[in-house]
Amino acid sequence: MSGEVGNKVLNTLREWEQAEGHVTGFMRLHGELLQIQNEARSGVNVVRPNPAEPLVRDRLCEGVPLVPFEEFSPDWDEARAVFEQIIAWFAKDSEGPQEEVDGLREIARDRPLMAEIAAAWYRGTPLTDFARARGIDEAILASAVGASLKPFLMACSELLSPEVDQETWRRKYCPICGGKPDFAYLDKDKGARWLVCSRCDAEWLFLRLECPYCDNQDHGAMAYLTDQKESSSYRVYVCDQCHGYIKAIDLRRAEWQVLLPLERVVTAELDKEAQARGYKPGWADR
Ligand SMILES: [Zn+2]
Ligand SMILES: [Zn+2]
Repeated sequence: MSGEVGNKVLNTLREWEQAEGHVTGFMRLHGELLQIQNEARSGVNVVRPNPAEPLVRDRLCEGVPLVPFEEFSPDWDEARAVFEQIIAWFAKDSEGPQEEVDGLREIARDRPLMAEIAAAWYRGTPLTDFARARGIDEAILASAVGASLKPFLMACSELLSPEVDQETWRRKYCPICGGKPDFAYLDKDKGARWLVCSRCDAEWLFLRLECPYCDNQDHGAMAYLTDQKESSSYRVYVCDQCHGYIKAIDLRRAEWQVLLPLERVVTAELDKEAQARGYKPGWADR
């Protein structure tokens, strides 16, 4: 989400809010989160990871994402400040034990600890021990860390995405940060399928009918759900091998200005539907 997209998202949410009844509590909550991230993103002005050109080429050829954690060096004081805001946002509506919020605050106060947990999250290592020691639900800890690092990761993604040769990457993970995709779109030109990174919002070209979460290439074991309306712009790709799903929007059919960060949120009904049918969000598996 570039700063410009972020502002458009917030403006759209504000317009919807004024049109009575259009913004649910769920969307308002996510709007607040996007606002925190958008403001933080506009304050991140120096992006350090900038590998030399031959290194970029080598990494991409070998399927190595451009930003390994050692080269991802956000200002940890800035990251902690965003983390504090995310905790305050979370605490407002949390029905979990107070111990959980206190545990998160303890991490926010401790810079080396926060960096250590961030490294584990970035590398996909379970956060079980960090979470258990502080009475925090592991999924909540992972979400809070991810939400806090997002503005910094978006900055990396904006800087480095133009370096990616889309015809050669085509992997199941992000060429910038190595994260999993959590949304997809079919482009306006040819209906080619692009994946969107759950962590840094980078977009990359992918095969139309291959599962983005497992090695399933058997078209018979893959399907997509659409709603009943012929004109629907949305679909959900589901995989009967790993039981993962990913939501997608067909830009050839969408007649409005599509803002992907917003589409993730407004399609919550599709998540419910896919999960009711026994599928799980493929990006949530760590
Ligand atoms: Zn990414
Ligand atoms: Zn699969």
